[in-house]
Amino acid sequence: MAWRVSPASRRGQSASGPCGPGGLNASTGCVEAVTVSDPSLIPDSGSVPGQIVVRETACKAILNPTSLGDYSINCYTGCQHGCVYCYARFMQRFHPHAEPWGQFVDVKINAVEALKRQLRRTKPGEVFVSSACDAWQPLEAHYGLSRRCCQLLLEYGFRLHVLTKSALVLRDLDVLAGGDVTLGVTITTLQEPLRTLWELHAAPVAERWRVLEAGRRAGLETAVMFGPLLPVLSDGQESLNAMFQRAAAVGVQRVWVDALNPRPRVWPSVARLLAQRFPHLRETYRRILFHPATRSAYLADLRQRATQAAKQSGLGDRVVICF
Ligand code: SF4
Repeated sequence: MAWRVSPASRRGQSASGPCGPGGLNASTGCVEAVTVSDPSLIPDSGSVPGQIVVRETACKAILNPTSLGDYSINCYTGCQHGCVYCYARFMQRFHPHAEPWGQFVDVKINAVEALKRQLRRTKPGEVFVSSACDAWQPLEAHYGLSRRCCQLLLEYGFRLHVLTKSALVLRDLDVLAGGDVTLGVTITTLQEPLRTLWELHAAPVAERWRVLEAGRRAGLETAVMFGPLLPVLSDGQESLNAMFQRAAAVGVQRVWVDALNPRPRVWPSVARLLAQRFPHLRETYRRILFHPATRSAYLADLRQRATQAAKQSGLGDRVVICF
């Protein structure tokens, strides 16, 4: 087994979950904290290097309506990838945690059972996997919840739209291949050192292209999300051209382009990284995000340049600009 439950938090013993004594209680949704001990599953990030708090929780429903499709599914609350610009930080408003984003994960341990119950009375449609976490973050290697939920959804005739930053999804190609699935990855920059700064615990860029190549070979529709493009750092014309040329070479069927957005809780994290590594860009980012006229001009220019890069690479009819 790749990890263990720490002795202090085995079921029936005390644990640090918000519901008091440890142990999963399916009726109350109480949680238990576990300690992940396999180094390959532990991000080395933030103020507490090498620590992540994992809690097993019970959920009542797992398939939820979304504007991103008909439904979304998130087997985890929280994400080990801990990207600096992550929009899912807003989840902490509804699920408060003492740990910073990227250092906690709640595992919806009964996700498969909850999904089975819902599927009996849910009309098939498109499911976005996942909207508020990465469904193939490292813990999925142990829990396998995203894999089993995808399998069930396909059996029930749902269409899956997968978007990940993890090569772990390749483990599940046997499930996804042959299904009505779009396999997508997110790419923010082609520069690995820049990727490391903004998405420290997600897969290297090369691995994400490898996911798309494997998806194509498996006969899946593939897609790439270029975003959020980082002002000045990864949104230049040269960067855009290189991204689209690579996407064309891989043969992706769809490309989305998104800009950095001023979503709740994102700015403090972005501003911290800028202050540490790119202090000269802090004011530029602040204006692009929060000054209406500057933002409007920036988005119009980015839209025009992304469209041009898409046309030049032969992907003009496959690109969707999301802003
Ligand atoms: S992989 Fe996605 S959900 Fe996870 S931290 Fe990064 S942006 Fe957020």
